[in-house]
Amino acid sequence: RLAYVNGRLVPLADATVHIEDRGFQFADGVYEVAASLNGRMLDWPQHVARLGRSLRELSIAAPMSDAALSIVARRVLAANRIRDGLLYVQVTRGAARRDHPFPANTTPTLVMTARPFDFRVRVAQQKTGISVITHPEIRWQRRDIKSIALLPNVLAKQSAREAKAFEAWFVDADGTVTEGSSTNAWIVRKDGTIVTYPASENILHGVMRGTLLALAREHQIRVEEAPFTAADALDAAEAFLTSTTAPCLPIVSIDGNRIGDGTPGPVTARLAEALWSEVERQTGW
Ligand code: PLP
Repeated sequence: RLAYVNGRLVPLADATVHIEDRGFQFADGVYEVAASLNGRMLDWPQHVARLGRSLRELSIAAPMSDAALSIVARRVLAANRIRDGLLYVQVTRGAARRDHPFPANTTPTLVMTARPFDFRVRVAQQKTGISVITHPEIRWQRRDIKSIALLPNVLAKQSAREAKAFEAWFVDADGTVTEGSSTNAWIVRKDGTIVTYPASENILHGVMRGTLLALAREHQIRVEEAPFTAADALDAAEAFLTSTTAPCLPIVSIDGNRIGDGTPGPVTARLAEALWSEVERQTGW
């Protein structure tokens, strides 16, 4: 495997950054994970746009133009001979003597890696459904920035792992479900309306969330961007989650409680089907 580090493709085992990189010392950086299917990028412009926004919000200089970034991304995927896989892009504020304020005259660090990923696993999980647990919302208040500071997400996902669940849903002090540790959270109300937390500073604006919202509207499914509680989720007809790596997975249990009849529901199935058609349209997968 080859990695891109600040202008060079190097064997992954030899790919290194400075120990005083601010990503390492302060988690002072941002990232993206984008999917390649059938050798083509899915929703790539949205990922580039979100990366640009994350960088601007933190006043980190863009390491290169969007067009150059796209060329490097393609090179990293091609160099690793990846058709179906995931591209990881990370930008930090760069290396400097350790001191909290922004350093003067540092160049941002840009790193990209790629690995194969079999999306057929997700298609299989779509048929069986997956489980989630709830976890206290212990994150900061700018979750719209795709920051590499992911310790709360790591702890939440580890709890899920230990509970043999696929994902952990963050629940705030009011009982509201904001999103999962690496996925956006959705329910289907008994009246058929799909509900997901509003795009605000409280959640990451998932690319798949945006794609699914657009598809739902196209298919005349009623959509509400509104908060829902864990109790609402238990009372819902269906629940599901979305992300680049788990495009649309039905949730059949939350904290061990069955959702609906405990099997994937029809609205989620319709949305998943619409999503895979969109994937096929974009990539031919
Ligand atoms: N929410 C969080 C906290 C995430 O980390 C992610 C993805 O990593 C998502 C949601 C889903 O975002 P996307 O659909 O862009 O993959």
